[in-house]
Amino acid sequence: MALIVQKYGGTSVGSVERIQAVAQRVYKTVQAGNSLVVVVSAMGKTTDGLVKLANEISPNPNRREMDMLLSTGEQVTIALLSMALQELGQPAISMTGAQVGIVTEAEHSRARILHIETTRLTRHINAGKVVVVAGFQGTSSAGEMEITTLGRGGSDTSAVAIAAALRANFCEIYTDVPGILTTDPRLVAEAQLMDAITCDEMLELASLGAKVLHPRAVEIARNYGVPLVVRSSWTDQPGTWVTSAKPQGRSLINLEIARPVDHVEFDTDQAKVALLRVPDKPGVAARLFGEISRQKVDVDLIIQSVHEGNSNDIAFTVTTPILKRAEAVATAIAPALRNQSNPKFDEAEVMVEHNIAKVSIAGAGMIGRPGVAAKMFATLAEAGVNIQMISTSEVKVSCVVNAAECDRAVLALRTAFEIEAGEQGAGSRGEFLTPNSSLLTPHSPPPVRGVALDLNQARLAIRQLPDRPGMAAKLFGLLAQHNISVDMIIQSQRCRVIDGVPRRDIAFTVSRIDGESAKKMLTQVAAELGWGEVVLDSAIAKVSIVGAGMVGQPGIAAKMFEALAQQQINIQMIATSEIKISCVVAQEQGVKALQAIHAAFELAGSEKFVVPA
Ligand code: ADP
Ligand code: ASP
Ligand code: MG
Repeated sequence: MALIVQKYGGTSVGSVERIQAVAQRVYKTVQAGNSLVVVVSAMGKTTDGLVKLANEISPNPNRREMDMLLSTGEQVTIALLSMALQELGQPAISMTGAQVGIVTEAEHSRARILHIETTRLTRHINAGKVVVVAGFQGTSSAGEMEITTLGRGGSDTSAVAIAAALRANFCEIYTDVPGILTTDPRLVAEAQLMDAITCDEMLELASLGAKVLHPRAVEIARNYGVPLVVRSSWTDQPGTWVTSAKPQGRSLINLEIARPVDHVEFDTDQAKVALLRVPDKPGVAARLFGEISRQKVDVDLIIQSVHEGNSNDIAFTVTTPILKRAEAVATAIAPALRNQSNPKFDEAEVMVEHNIAKVSIAGAGMIGRPGVAAKMFATLAEAGVNIQMISTSEVKVSCVVNAAECDRAVLALRTAFEIEAGEQGAGSRGEFLTPNSSLLTPHSPPPVRGVALDLNQARLAIRQLPDRPGMAAKLFGLLAQHNISVDMIIQSQRCRVIDGVPRRDIAFTVSRIDGESAKKMLTQVAAELGWGEVVLDSAIAKVSIVGAGMVGQPGIAAKMFEALAQQQINIQMIATSEIKISCVVAQEQGVKALQAIHAAFELAGSEKFVVPA
């Protein structure tokens, strides 16, 4: 007999018939000898409907009242499902988040879970009842008793958090697709089902646009080692297991806000090659990285930034022993990358930097917490360390710095994040947590597991920021204060001296809903801080590939860029981390880019998925 938490999403409970079908599945699971907590979403598109109602009254509704409104959707479903179970003769009781005691921060519309009371849940379970809990909602601590919501798609997070708090045997997420696919089947019908994926890979996919799981749900599963599976509510197919290594014991207090960083890493054996003034047109990155891959040069980070005028900078890092080879490839190809539209600079220029180091903070508590990266940048600034390149991912933020400053940087970061030297965090290897023994040994998966498209991003660029320690700290500190998360942070490689101060451009992506307010806020401080113009582009799409096996495979980046070049799609920005590569392209080319990349990596299956309406 197992204790199972099941979660049913909006489509799965979209009608009376669907609720009855869910009740049947729950009933069968109990008959098989299990105890059950069931977490449900609002029926169908109820939440969207409520948002629309609110917007008819106010373009910018009060966030507290918004939570009062949106939390009603789930309350309808819990009562109806409870009734449906009782009709089947199955004792059941419905509970709101507040009744359970899902205690969250007092932050409306994006509250994080602090802890979950289990006494009431356990009492009802022990009395033989199925407890049906409203997802996506909680209550702030005892004094205030404010109703809070966790953010759109947050019922997944409620379910995994309850599973962690109850130490349930596993958590099943029932939805309208058979599991986690190589990409969104609504955009690519040939997307293929995976039988398993690691938490780290899923964290990236979810944050880069795959809405099949709420990223915070994956974060909790990883931190607490909750075995997690995504399945279809329509079939009995086994679905996809999200595997995680056995974690160190973590307290259930401050569940979602405890220690964001598990360890500090560094690598001093690094060098950087940059190509300046490459033409801004399709096929350039494909040519460069195609040659790099043919010469078997293993690159680590890659960035390409937008720049004023018609040219871009592309930079990549390699380990010192292969620097000569990397430089030779770049130098050989530079004359071919002529920039016809810019008569002043005829060909790309190669710039090499020895003696650099990469320092990183890693951990699964950084999602949606812009303050964590900001704290890293501020710590480096206080230690007088200048940041040359930044790479962000959901589980890691890396900064390229001068090698001579590496020790100082690492020490400062360990102190700031309270990490003992040599301390290891929860890795993605080791003993895997799924009840299915065939998944216990990680098989060698293809280098690219999934492709994601995010059409809800905007790009901000700030021109001519002074190039000195503290620049990133100031900028991302300000954004963090306004709770704005950033991704794909890219500093231009070119440095221009204006008024005696060396300056660089910096570009990054934010959620589109944050674009205008971020621009306004940054424009206000720009003059005072001596920054140049703040430029916003909302018509972008971010397309990303994710896979833990892409490390040490230089051909992967080349293949992605080549797929885009073949479709004549211009790449506006490139940013990578160890397990992902993201490209920004024009918004109207997003879907075409996704399809081309999915096909290029031969991820398509023979079966076509039809998502229920
Ligand atoms: P629920 O209401 O059950 O929470 P969601 O709509 O939030 O369902 O998430 C399921 C949807 O996620 C699917 O219908 C699919 O369109 C989308 N999706 C995006 N990327 C993927 C992916 N890689 N695998 C499966 N589904 C995906
Ligand atoms: N009903 C909420 C939403 O639509 C939460 C969820 O379904 O996960 O965002
Ligand atoms: Mg969902």
